[in-house]
Amino acid sequence: MRIEAISVIPQVFESYLDASIMGRAKRAGIFSFTAYDLRDWTHDRHRTVDDAPFGGGQGMLMKPEPIFEAVEDIAARDEVAPYVVFFSPVGTPFTQAVASRLSQHERLLFVCGRYEGMDERCYQLADEVISLGDYVLTGGELAALAVTDAVVRLLPGALGDDMSAQDESFSDGLLEYEQYTRPADFRGMQVPEVLLSGDHGAVGRWRRQSALERTARLRPDLLEDASLAPAERAFVESLLHNDTQGGE
Ligand code: SAH
Repeated sequence: MRIEAISVIPQVFESYLDASIMGRAKRAGIFSFTAYDLRDWTHDRHRTVDDAPFGGGQGMLMKPEPIFEAVEDIAARDEVAPYVVFFSPVGTPFTQAVASRLSQHERLLFVCGRYEGMDERCYQLADEVISLGDYVLTGGELAALAVTDAVVRLLPGALGDDMSAQDESFSDGLLEYEQYTRPADFRGMQVPEVLLSGDHGAVGRWRRQSALERTARLRPDLLEDASLAPAERAFVESLLHNDTQGGE
């Protein structure tokens, strides 16, 4: 997969994407990442990318000309048209399902906002606008990194062990089950007995129950869309009605 990003601070992506799992996946050719400096598509001496909002108000907005020129120019550099993603708090909330959908594209182009946001006409260029969550960041770069990370780890080979992306939170609409490693007794806190038993069937049932319980307790909103067997549905319904306390 090819990922490209347009930003006024293109230098911020490198250290994160060169380290650890992302770095290994990049060196293995599972994805490439190119960050472009938006100011390379300006034509004035000050390399201006922002301007004051019509109608007044605080702060500056990103002006449309450099963004249109950059997206059009970068898109035309390859015969595969990029899927163009903008970032904004007013966008579609980013979820594992969106990450999974984006991971199907061969080429992604991210456009990162700054300042008070962008001239509304810029969004004409977007195939999709994504929000990282209900809070305001100073720029789209962290959103682009979060989306890159979540997408890349879904690509075949990125995690080394191909199974590990299948069994985790949100993959089946539930939170992941509780996990433990050694020691079995840590400061008097015991690992659930069944996990030490070597009985794979029992471990599988315990994990499913743990995922159902945790989801019912911490994120009951997820249960609506989760695919559950009738008995599991009945189980979570009983949890929801007996315990409305929440919290872990
Ligand atoms: N004035 C805007 C916020 C601008 S923040 C508003 O109230 O909606 C500046 C830039 O940071 C945005 O253009 C966007 O690219 C990025 N950004 C901020 N919060 C974000 C979020 N929750 N998700 C995705 N991008 C975000």
